[in-house]
Parts: sequence; structure tokens; C-alpha cells
Amino acid sequence: MSDDVVLYEVTGHVATITMNRPDVANAQDTALIDGIDHCLDLADADDDVRVVVLAGAGKHFSAGHDLKALVTGEGDDPWVALRETPEGKFRHEQVMYYGRSLRLYQFRKPTIARVQGSAVAAGLMLACMCDLIVAADDATFTNPVLRMTGAGVELLVEPWELGIRKAKEFLWTGEKIDAQEAWRLGLVNRVVPLAELADRTRELAERVALVPPATAQVVKDSINNVATLMGKEQSWKYHFVAHHWMHNTATALDALAARRTKTSMKDVFAEHRDD
Ligand code: ZN
Repeated sequence: MSDDVVLYEVTGHVATITMNRPDVANAQDTALIDGIDHCLDLADADDDVRVVVLAGAGKHFSAGHDLKALVTGEGDDPWVALRETPEGKFRHEQVMYYGRSLRLYQFRKPTIARVQGSAVAAGLMLACMCDLIVAADDATFTNPVLRMTGAGVELLVEPWELGIRKAKEFLWTGEKIDAQEAWRLGLVNRVVPLAELADRTRELAERVALVPPATAQVVKDSINNVATLMGKEQSWKYHFVAHHWMHNTATALDALAARRTKTSMKDVFAEHRDD
């Protein structure tokens, strides 16, 4: 398999963007987020592309943002260095997490997330930026960041995806939602056997691609406008600022300092895991 952290392939009218860091469960670092954005540029510019599928190589869709560099402060990623100040942290997340996520949500062509294994925290957020979600029967969805002091992730998708009461339970408990429950809650459109995930997602994409592109885009925009009128983007804007206020509290900064003394991310997660 290619060394590229994101793969791009067009077959017929369907572009497939594949996150390709399977060794770290497609944890999203700067290169991966930039890679998805670049592929969206390609898909946007190509008139043959009518539908975009977002997939993850390996066992899992995505474990969320790559916290290793962010917690240790190591490496030469300029965004990571910027996070040493509250202003820099805000800017990093505004551009790389909030802005890039919204770009995918507002992408003019229909998008489908193809989810197997774990979709954790920002992995769930990323899947929810797509118009449709096809889940393998082994898929699980979880956002366990609250006990690690995080006020959710940067875009609060849960109330929109799960309903108000379930969103609170999901976030406060950090419990997993399996594929069947995700379907029952309306979080995913279809649940298919893992072995058929790629084919069944492709069939759905090809069916959507039968709609003339201009029509598909107008209807996407109009349906998204329903959510806009219900306050979706405004609620996200509020949450983003609230999320950042939490990042800079003594509660969060003390926890971050404690985490920096750990030798590995495994230790950090082990502390917060009870399953
Ligand atoms: Zn954040």
C-alpha cells in the first residue's frame, strides 16, 4: 500500500478519499487533515466526480485527532508549536478542526462516510460532516473526551445526530454506540456486513450519482439550510468558543501538565478507560 497518508481514487462518477494511517487507526494529524482538504479540491474541480466517499484504511475509520504530538509538544509541526499559547491553540483549532470540518459539511457535492471499526471523538465528528453514513456491522461510535477534561470536540455534533437527551448520556458516560443502535438513532443510514462495506457503499454512491449534479447540489444545500434555520451552525459557533474556554481552564491545563509526564499515550488513555 502507498505511503501517502491520504489516497484518492476516481472510478466512474465516484471519488474515494481514503485516510491511510492504519497503524494509528487513522488518527488525524496535520498531514492527514491537509490531505483530505487537497482531495476535496480535486473532487471539486473534476466535473466527472458527482459523489465523494470518505473512508479509512485498515480496521478503524478514525481514532480522532492525533493527540500524541499535541500532548507531548514534540515534532516539527508548526501548528503544534503554536498551541503553547491560548491564542495559538484557538487559531490551530479554528483553521484545522473547525474550518476544515465545515468545509467538508458544506462541500457542494454529496458525500458519504464509509465507517468500520471505531469512530472516536473527532473521528465521529468527521463522519458526521458527510451527508450520508454507511456503517459496517462492527462499527462503534464513541466520544470519551469529557473525563479527559475536553468539552466535547470542536463541533458539537451529538445533539443534532442523537437528540438532546441521548447526547447528554453519550457524552457524560463516554459509552459506545454500536452499529445497530447508531442506525436506530438515525446516526447512520445503513448497516452492512463488514465484508461488503466497500461494495455496498459504492452501490449507494452510484445510485446518488444518477441524480444530475446541479439537482443534487441544490437539494443538499436546501436540506442543509433547514438545519441552518434550526440553528446548527450558530450552535457550533457557540460550542467552539465554549470548547476553547474549557481548554484554557486550570482543570484542563493541570490535566495536560500531568499527561506530559506520561511516557506514552497508551498510559493517558488507560487512565480514562474503564472497559
Ligand atoms: Zn480542542
